[in-house]
Amino acid sequence: MAPKPFAGTFTQQEPLGEAAIAAAIRVLESGRLHRYNTVAGETAEAALLEAEFAAFQGVDYCLACASGGYAMHIALMAAGLKHGEPVLTNGFTLSPVPGAIVNAGGKPVLVECTRNLVIDLDDLEQKAAGARFLLLSHMRGHIADMDRLMAIADRHGLTVIEDCAHTMGADWNGTKSGNFGLAACFSTQTYKHMNSGEGGLLTSNDPDFMARAIILSGSYMLYERHGAAPARSHFEKARLETPNCSGRMDNLRAAILRPQLAGLEKNIERWNDRYSTIETALKSSGLFHLPERPAAEHPVGSSIQFLAEDIAPDAARAFVANAKALGVELKWFGDADPVAFTSNHHSWRFIADQALPKTDRVLSGLFDMRIPLTFSIDDCAHIAAIIIHCGEQMRLKGAA
Ligand SMILES: *Cc1c(COP(=O)(O)O)cnc(C)c1O
Repeated sequence: MAPKPFAGTFTQQEPLGEAAIAAAIRVLESGRLHRYNTVAGETAEAALLEAEFAAFQGVDYCLACASGGYAMHIALMAAGLKHGEPVLTNGFTLSPVPGAIVNAGGKPVLVECTRNLVIDLDDLEQKAAGARFLLLSHMRGHIADMDRLMAIADRHGLTVIEDCAHTMGADWNGTKSGNFGLAACFSTQTYKHMNSGEGGLLTSNDPDFMARAIILSGSYMLYERHGAAPARSHFEKARLETPNCSGRMDNLRAAILRPQLAGLEKNIERWNDRYSTIETALKSSGLFHLPERPAAEHPVGSSIQFLAEDIAPDAARAFVANAKALGVELKWFGDADPVAFTSNHHSWRFIADQALPKTDRVLSGLFDMRIPLTFSIDDCAHIAAIIIHCGEQMRLKGAA
């Protein structure tokens, strides 16, 4: 018997809460929304957020900016990427990642993905000799073996920039995701771990890199009004030699992010409770491969992925349609035509076409689902029952 339909909305995040709403009203009442618009003795919300996020992340420097994609774009520029230079990145990621590389003047070189949804370190090793940069995407929160990855990077002189859009608050062996490479890029877009509609945070411990990034973000000569910036001496060279690629964060967004940062650890627990409810059920059904999560990995389960390996395209489409009919919104990464936020490397026609047979095989059976915190644990159990029901239907069909 089919489970009853699920009525929740997969794109509905939680309301922002009283503290954030009050902070937003204070900024609106002040009229000082621009981050450099302060009165005597006042520290801008954007600068306060930078100081607090640097402390959370355990790094020296943080820059608040316009989006996660923008943070990646200026990180590559500040790291010294030259026009036309190759940049290694994951073959399985979202399109703003190769987009940021193109924006910075680089040439994306895609690295294969494993069935545990992390960058394929053997393929990385093979391709590493030809590049100076790796824009590493912890796509959907899956963290590769960072010890081995950094050993490869060190051996080949690769500069690593981490895309932590899905790993804000996660860690590998006690080191926060984002603290392995030269710099890390976070997103505060609505569907990530903190919600300001749009927004980005760039972190690093390298003072000269961060000085360039701050100037790139459009600080003019006001870089001393930042909350977690290097000392003035680091700007001496950068201040006149670095272009202004205007992409600042404003005080309104910063004001609503600060109370969310204070509640992030709690929300990580809530996400992981929901993730493990669904993961346990799907695993025990025996219908799907769930990515293995090593003991060293402490992810944030804000979404879940599972594989129906070697599923035929028609069956995959039917599976998604059947789940949708019961109210469960799955994304399938194997579709030839991109849908909503989901596209695969074949539809990135703005970059050179690249053969990724291993990744293609993974993507052909890969399903993806958001886990908004508006869902209760019971909701998650209900959703898992629907997925399993639809998976069983599919298998029966295949056997018939
Ligand atoms: C959302 C996302 C980004 C980009 O973040 P924006 O703030 O939307 O620009 C980058 N990488 C991944 C994997 C993402 O999901």
